[in-house]
This record gives sequence, C-alpha cells and structure tokens, in this order.
Amino acid sequence: MLQPGLMMDRPLLISGIIEHAAAQFGDVEVVSRETHGPLFRYTYAQCAARSHKLANALKGLGLEAGSAVGSIAWNNHRHLEAYFAVSGSGMVMHTCNPRLQAQQLIYIINHAEDAMMLFDSTFAPLIKGIAPYCPKVKSWVCLSDAANMPVIDGVSTLCYEDLIAPHSEQFDWPEFDERSGAALCYTSGTTGNPKGALYSHRAIVINAMSGCLPGILSLSPSDTILPVVPMFHINAWCIPYAAPIGGARLVLPGPRLDGASLYELMEGERVTVSAGVPTIWLALMQHVEEHGLRFSTMKRTGVGGSAMPAALIAKFVDNYGVEVRHGWGMTETTAVATMSCLSPKNRELSATEQHAVIARQGKSVFGTEIKIVDEYGATLPRDGVAQGELMVRGQWIVRSYYKVEASPLVDGWFPTGDIATIDAHGVMQIRDRAKDVIKTGGEWISSIDLENAAVGHPAVAMAAVIGVKHPKWDERPLLFIVRKPGKTVEREEILAFLTERVAKWWVPDDVIFLDALPVGGTGKVQKNDLRKQYGGVFS
Ligand code: AMP
Repeated sequence: MLQPGLMMDRPLLISGIIEHAAAQFGDVEVVSRETHGPLFRYTYAQCAARSHKLANALKGLGLEAGSAVGSIAWNNHRHLEAYFAVSGSGMVMHTCNPRLQAQQLIYIINHAEDAMMLFDSTFAPLIKGIAPYCPKVKSWVCLSDAANMPVIDGVSTLCYEDLIAPHSEQFDWPEFDERSGAALCYTSGTTGNPKGALYSHRAIVINAMSGCLPGILSLSPSDTILPVVPMFHINAWCIPYAAPIGGARLVLPGPRLDGASLYELMEGERVTVSAGVPTIWLALMQHVEEHGLRFSTMKRTGVGGSAMPAALIAKFVDNYGVEVRHGWGMTETTAVATMSCLSPKNRELSATEQHAVIARQGKSVFGTEIKIVDEYGATLPRDGVAQGELMVRGQWIVRSYYKVEASPLVDGWFPTGDIATIDAHGVMQIRDRAKDVIKTGGEWISSIDLENAAVGHPAVAMAAVIGVKHPKWDERPLLFIVRKPGKTVEREEILAFLTERVAKWWVPDDVIFLDALPVGGTGKVQKNDLRKQYGGVFS
C-alpha cells in the first residue's frame, strides 16, 4: 500500500511569490518606465505593500473570488501590482492584448466577463471605442496618477492612485486550492474567435520556478532582468513571477520598445538578462550596429514566439558576447515549454554549429513532455529527421479552453499545430506551423528554414515565405524581403544566395520586396495577410 507523504501540503499560490520577495528580497529594486514622467523606482517590499492596498480596494468595490479583472496595459509597476493583487485575492487576472482588433477585444472581454478593466492612458482611444460594447465592465480604472488622467468621453473612469490611496497596506491573502484559476490569456485568434487559456496558480508558480533554473533564464539575486515580452502576452513568459521568486532585480520597459529605448534602459539600469520575440532583437541589433554601440552588462537573452534566425544568434553571441537562449511555447503552455542551452559537448563544436544548436528550440523543460506524431497519431522516432505534429503535455499545459466543453486533447496530449523534429538527445526543432508549411510535389518545404537562410544575407532585415498555389507542384514558395536601411539587393542576388544554402527545389519562385512585413499583436509576421494579398497562383 502507498505510504502517505508526511510533508506539509501548502498550496502554491501567487500571493506567496510577492510575500516571499517582500520578506527575502525586500530591498531589491523594481524599476518601471512609465507612460508619463521619469523612471519609477521602488522595492519588492513596496510593491507588496501597494498590492495589498489594491487587494483591499478590489474587495471594497465588491469584487470577489472568481471575478475577472481585465488589463490593457504595458509592462509597468502598477500592472505588476495588479498581477499579485488580483490573482492573490482569488480573482482572475485577464491580460488583454491591445493589438487585437477591436471586435476581438470586445469578444474576449465579454467572454471572460471582466468586471473591471485596468488600462494605461495610451489606450484611452481604444477604451472609448470598446467600452459601450462591454456592459459587464463596471469600473474602468486608468493605471495613472490624478495628474495624468485622460478624459474619455462617455466613459466614467477611476484613477488607480486615487483608488488605492485610502486603503491599508495590510492585507491577509486568502488561502485556497492551488488549482484555482489565476490568470487568463486568449490566443491571438488568427482563425475563428480567440480561445482562453485559464492558468492555475499551481501552473504559474511551477513554471515561474522553472524559469529561474540555470538552463532556462537563470534568475538569481545576481541578475537584473528586463522582460520585453509584454505582460499581456502569456504572462510575459511568467517573468514577473519568476524574478521575485529568484530575487532578481526587475526592470519594466513600459511603452517604449524600440531599439534605442531598450538599449538606453539596458545600459542605464545595468540589465543582465532580457527576453522577447526575435523582431525586438532585430530592431535592437540594428540600433546597436548603426551606432557602433556595445553591451556593457548584458549576459544573456531569452528569445521565442517565433524562430530566431541563426544569423541573428551569431551576431549576439560572436559580436557582442550575449548568450542566446531560444525557447518555444504558446498561449496554451503558460510560458516556456522547451529551451535550448549549450552543453559542454556543444561548446566543442564550431561557432556556426553552436549557433545552429541554439537556432533549434531545445529540450522540454522539466514539467513538460514532448513527442511528434504522424497524421494517424502514431509516435514518430526521435531521429532528428522524421517530422510530424508536436504534441505536449505537462503540469502547465492547457487541458481545456475557457468555457469550451470539447477537450482539445488527443490521448492526454495537446496538439500544438506545429510541425517539428526531435533528435536522439531530445532536442526539438520547429520546422513550421502546420498551416505555413509548403507542400510542393508531395514534399515539404519549411518556410522557417527558408526565412532563416534569407536573413543570413547581409542586406536583408526581415524575410517571410508563404506557399502559393501552383498548377503543377501544388504549392511553391514565394519570398518577401525587407531590405536593411540603405542597403540594396535584388531578386537575382537573393535567389543565387539561397541556391548555395538550400536544396534546389526549395529556392523560391519569386521574391517581392516590401517596406515592412505585416506584424501582428505578438510581434509575429502575419502570413495570413501576405497570403490574402499575394497568395494567387504561380503559372
Ligand atoms: P502564441 O500562442 O501566439 O504565442 O503562438 C504560439 C506559436 O508561436 C507556436 O505554436 C509556434 O508556432 C510559434 N512559436 C513560439 N515560439 C517559437 C520558436 N521559438 N520558434 C518558432 N516558432 C515559435
């Protein structure tokens, strides 16, 4: 018979994170770039005290356990306080992506039944447009002081600072089941309505602890982390929870995410670790290269959300000494589910080979398991060659969508819609989204591999590849290029460059030069938009 374990059964709750930080790292700084005014600085102890004030205020407004509180906000200190106050009170923190279309925002706010909306003044025009269609939102609270409150015609707004001012800095967090819902994030809904992933306290706390591991982001009191990934996108990969667990100093970038602003913040605040999508690192690299700058404190950066090209990895590592950790995850996986990190054996490889290792999405993080399956659901070998749909399961993987009865799981695994390989060492590589992979003459071309090859050209800033219908081959690749500022390169040169790097039948049938690629709410290239505009038929 099994023996019951004799350890305490304390629940893993988000309130525990900020209390831990206040008690153990009470003097560690949180720095926040605000929408108005200079950098704001305080400590984890002060963050905890103000979270208590907000928790008291929420209670005072009649919100209770299970209520949903929405946010449309940048990464800043008030948003951070809400992360702890809302979830810590047993309510659901519903982070909304302001870059969604207005109808989608209205849909998710109503679907989540948000009773309150916390928003940054930047989004006042957006609030004006959506408020009339969100009848369940009883309070619109601007994350601002009284001096910077926007006036929004027809919407009665509360000021965050006024709201929390009268309340006590003492609050007794409730204790409840760690499996309760803590935070809600909707998928970006490129097809159909967005679907909600309701993260439990347990999922977030375990994931955040894993984020501190040396092989993941390695967050400790020796570090200062700047999460560029937005707090409205998959909990900013759980960094706002992981940093206070690890005792790392936290720098929040607010609304300014361009290369120059990020560089200034990284240098000024002596940031050692950062995390964000490849488009952000591309812009940062362009700024640094153009101005002949160096990083004086940055040690490593976490990247994910879309594939990080080996050419960009090479620049960070070889030219600037910044280690790149490339991870994979999705809204349905709470945050990072796989991560690449060099082993001593990898470090014996050539620099180019090392970059190729990092360009893969890495090994599953403890707490998640991965496999690939063929179209009949049969598990494919871990040989680095067979490619199939990536399936994932684990302690922080979605089991069903919010208010959707049908389970998305297949035999207990979540089908990701990504096509991947896994090698004998467990290293996973995303080859494509199932809907982006190009089927030509019965074979598959990875649009990601082609894009990565194209951005290796010194004049190419960004590249995207879509499959275009072809009468003979079913589909053929069409390449879009954004040139680097001031650089010239033409179709023939690009195609010749690719011919040397990929199989002949992979070389795109045509190249279209654009000023910019359509980028969606989470910094990813919107291939659907490209398909709509250019996905005709090759003759
Ligand atoms: P989202 O839920 O909007 O974050 O999108 C998740 C999707 O982004 C995944 O299913 C992948 O298709 C893609 N993705 C995330 N990380 C990576 C990565 N490192 N490389 C390639 N694709 C990625």
